[in-house]
Amino acid sequence: MGKSNNEEELVRVNKEKEGKEEPCVEIDEETLFIVTQTFKALSEPTRVKILHLLAQKEHSVNDIAEKLSLLQTTVSHQLRFLKNLRLVKYRREGTTLYYSADDDHVMNMLQQTIHHARHH
Ligand SMILES: [Zn+2]
Repeated sequence: MGKSNNEEELVRVNKEKEGKEEPCVEIDEETLFIVTQTFKALSEPTRVKILHLLAQKEHSVNDIAEKLSLLQTTVSHQLRFLKNLRLVKYRREGTTLYYSADDDHVMNMLQQTIHHARHH
């Protein structure tokens, strides 16, 4: 009986130790905010379509609107959202803005998620 209790105690203490040895880095508020905003960016069909299009090559706002059959104002609005999160960038040529993808992590995540969706 006593031995069994000791063994249980040992298991408990070891478990506690293991837990303490694991690095317990808490997610800070700023990181948490950016993570949730990033998932928010990827949780809207139009934004996913735009990012997927930009994964292939840069496009002007016009091109995006045409290819996705969207209003330019809609595209501009979504691009601003994505730009604020630094997921896209643009370069100006005359009066035309050319947008391209600007974050490998999130583009990889999008690609992975597309693979995930298709393997089902
Ligand atoms: Zn999967």
